[in-house]
Amino acid sequence: MPEGPEIWRAADEISNTIANKEIKELFFAFDELKEFEKELVGSKIISVTPRGKAIINAFDNGLNLYSHNQLYGKWMMSENGMQPDTNRSLRVAIKTNDGAAFLYSASEIEMLEADEVESHDYIKKLGPDVVHPETSYEEVLARYQDENFKNRKLATLLLDQGFLSGVGNYLRSEIMFCAKVDPDWRPKDCTEEQLEDLAHYSLELSRRSYKTGGIIIEPELKEALEREGASRKNSRFYAYKRTGKPCYKCGREIKEMKTGGRKIYYCEHRQKSVD
Ligand SMILES: [Zn+2]
Repeated sequence: MPEGPEIWRAADEISNTIANKEIKELFFAFDELKEFEKELVGSKIISVTPRGKAIINAFDNGLNLYSHNQLYGKWMMSENGMQPDTNRSLRVAIKTNDGAAFLYSASEIEMLEADEVESHDYIKKLGPDVVHPETSYEEVLARYQDENFKNRKLATLLLDQGFLSGVGNYLRSEIMFCAKVDPDWRPKDCTEEQLEDLAHYSLELSRRSYKTGGIIIEPELKEALEREGASRKNSRFYAYKRTGKPCYKCGREIKEMKTGGRKIYYCEHRQKSVD
């Protein structure tokens, strides 16, 4: 599932491809959206905003296209307006004379009036967005210190979009690795310094991933691994999907465990105080 950094990049792509251009043609697969196919011709998209794992395309007539990709949805762009070659099922197409955006396989697609966006069931529950440039370190630290969250296991808390939005499975493992925190712990088990590190890395790693297209490790390490001939796949993460491989910080094996049905990856030595 895409996480915040990927959603932000998708929003940038949509914006770069079709924003502020007159829309010539629209397609909506769902019956309840068909009425907008004609209505929106001639309008423009004036902003494309990531909200957690959803994206809001705002039209200049006040309407807002809400889409949440769930597990399989994917936005694809086309510079020449031709439909991408894919077996996925097309849900939305927005075409201009100079580029088109296509949304495939997503199941949650709605048209919202301007005053319905913030009160939308999904959006109103979102915590601070870790990729958003205006989300502050203090705001994120306050979440980790919050009485409402401090008794919950970090491994599950970090996947809750109401806690911090934009964190998903890979960021969860990487944030806890960098903050040297045991995935079985709750915020209340952490020292103040560990909570500060969690807040720091929640922002740092998410923003780095947005900027680099999914590379979490620090640039120096990335360069060193590249010099050794490592593939892109093998030089992105500290711990995520690196089970059995040596930890970049201590050389011991990275381990995995299942929590809430999803795997978490960690360094036992670094995060569980085991030799
Ligand atoms: Zn280690």
